[in-house]
Amino acid sequence: MSIAHNYQAVLHNVSVAQAKRTCAPINNAENVKVVAVTKNHDVQAMLQAIDAGVIAVGENRIQEAQQKFQAISPGRVERHLIGHLQTNKVRQAVSLFDLIHSVDSERLAVAMNRIAEKLSKRQDILLQVNVAQEDTKFGIAVHEVADLAAFVTSSLPYLRLCGLMIIAPFFPDKELTRPIFRKGYQLFQELLSRNLPSSKLQWLSMGMSNDYEIAIEEGANLIRVGTGIFGARQY
Ligand SMILES: *Cc1c(COP(=O)(O)O)cnc(C)c1O
Repeated sequence: MSIAHNYQAVLHNVSVAQAKRTCAPINNAENVKVVAVTKNHDVQAMLQAIDAGVIAVGENRIQEAQQKFQAISPGRVERHLIGHLQTNKVRQAVSLFDLIHSVDSERLAVAMNRIAEKLSKRQDILLQVNVAQEDTKFGIAVHEVADLAAFVTSSLPYLRLCGLMIIAPFFPDKELTRPIFRKGYQLFQELLSRNLPSSKLQWLSMGMSNDYEIAIEEGANLIRVGTGIFGARQY
């Protein structure tokens, strides 16, 4: 199947899942944004996806993104960082990405704020939350969300907090992801109710190829789809 065909199929599945959603949509907006995860796929595949109408691409490694983004004209698509970020790569990350999904410590946030100030940029970020408490995954614990969100919004003026990112564990039975996503939606609503200053809470990034339909049913409005658009990755 072609990338264009796969992308259309994903968009169709998205609208079916949206119709099944029972929770209130975030900001009353029904739209779900699809981030096409291009990691480990070549520039050719990335450009095919953009030609097929993809509006946002996601990468998880700085060096790979730096090389591949040279092939995209500025402003053509949104660029999202979805992978873990080390403090020593923050400068490149802030230069390269429109939205960074993976902020998971105060230390990283402070470093990012400092670089964003130097580059005269307001950096949009999400806090990554390890809802399922998996040892193998990055992300802050559920009980740390309120404090880190308060710190970022009160003390780091060059960052703009835009929401949360959650990765569910891989379950052969995808129904088991549902409580994880439901918790993510609940956390997002709790954050909204705090009326944090100078934040723009609008994205709940949850769901990948295996589980995005369930994530959307539970309130996700930003999904990260690689395999479902490009096929399996070759490592
Ligand atoms: C690789 C990756 C994805 C995409 O995974 P697929 O299963 O290929 O859709 C989504 N989110 C994150 C954080 C990833 O690292």
